[in-house]
Amino acid sequence: MIHASEFFDVGLKFHGHKCPAMPLGLRAGAAAMNALGVERSQDKELVLLAETGNDHAAGCFVDGLMTITGCTYGKSNIKKTYYGKMAFTLIDTKRNKAVRVQLKPEFFGKMLSSPFVQQRKQGVPPQEVPAEITDPLVEGVMARAEAEFLDIGPVIDYPFTRGKGVFDTDLCEGCGERVFANKLEKVNGKRLCVPCRESLSV
Ligand SMILES: [Zn+2]
Ligand SMILES: [Zn+2]
Repeated sequence: MIHASEFFDVGLKFHGHKCPAMPLGLRAGAAAMNALGVERSQDKELVLLAETGNDHAAGCFVDGLMTITGCTYGKSNIKKTYYGKMAFTLIDTKRNKAVRVQLKPEFFGKMLSSPFVQQRKQGVPPQEVPAEITDPLVEGVMARAEAEFLDIGPVIDYPFTRGKGVFDTDLCEGCGERVFANKLEKVNGKRLCVPCRESLSV
């Protein structure tokens, strides 16, 4: 059993500012992990498909998810689908099971009319929103019962085939930089990296 509260401090440090969306990611990530009965991902035991997009409110959600699940961009076991939804699927690649969790639509709708979001809409950066607005909201997220704000789907079968890690590198014959071999392609007899190929086509 994993508890979101144990990851609050590291999440805050990693994320950079105090806001309600990062803690929502901690809570939702913990709910998914507990539904699957899994531990935090040391390597790529877990894979997370986040349905958020870019440049919308509450994108900070994903930093909470990364913190608690151990699905990170460095390990490449998190992907964004850019659907613009406050939802994600967590996959247990060892047992081929998965669960989808979303913020309840009515809850998230209310959250978007919170005084915190009002300030953000007016262009106030998250770290400059007064603590008397942010703190109760964040405490509320950390204390709220899961059933009040999360839709936790059933645990489903999710056959998962893992890609092989690439260890081979070579030098690009254009720029001379070292490149992972799966990203080099032969053009006019030369093995070139992506930017060198792109500069040929302009
Ligand atoms: Zn944030
Ligand atoms: Zn190159």
